[in-house]
Amino acid sequence: MERLHKVLAHAGVASRRKAEKMIEDGRVKVNGQVVTQLGTLVDPAQDKIEVDGQTIDPEPKVYYLFYKPTGVITSVQDPQGRKVVMDFFKNIPQRIYPVGRLDRNTSGLLLLTNDGELAHRLMHPSFHVDKVYRVTVKGIPSNEKLSRLERGIRLKDGWTAPAKVEWLHKDMAENKAVVRITIHEGRKRQVRRMLKAIGHPVLALHRERYAFLNLEGLNEGEYRPLTPEEVRRLK
Ligand code: URA
Repeated sequence: MERLHKVLAHAGVASRRKAEKMIEDGRVKVNGQVVTQLGTLVDPAQDKIEVDGQTIDPEPKVYYLFYKPTGVITSVQDPQGRKVVMDFFKNIPQRIYPVGRLDRNTSGLLLLTNDGELAHRLMHPSFHVDKVYRVTVKGIPSNEKLSRLERGIRLKDGWTAPAKVEWLHKDMAENKAVVRITIHEGRKRQVRRMLKAIGHPVLALHRERYAFLNLEGLNEGEYRPLTPEEVRRLK
């Protein structure tokens, strides 16, 4: 059981404060009865809740595309009080969580949703979602070393599936290089481990793309809802 004003907030009807006012104003019915008592408990899965005569969906599915800055932890909470992705979503009433994770020092595209079924599917290796990373590495890798990534690398948790690799930039003066790598697996610290395995540790890692989604129009720390068409394509 949950407090009625919280259920209204989670449904995206209004903020908690405004939802309380709606209840006091007699605009909310539970199972056909007007309820004006604040603190009324309801079961969002069972009770029919109406606002101004419209039945509400207690937990509508929401989908957000977030440009994660570096230095932010992909988690809902951090026991040590460090900055987490949810700190950027304080105004979202639904209980959303990240689809997969990016390391603290990785920037780029992260999806968040309360659609557990879709999140689960996207994270499942058999779903083969392409993830595209711009990777800055120490040193200038030879083409032979990069082609090892394309054939698959043996890591301690097994062989990686073949990656796609594209040259972006060689910086001889600074002794570093930038490549674009596409993988569809999502193992822990996978890109960092793959590059380390060929002798070129990662200096910076940025996810440019997830499936067909990119970060166009967003700055670091910003997010936007997916369009219904984007949600449909992801499913
Ligand atoms: N691979 C990594 O090593 N780190 C990430 O954050 C994402 C992919």
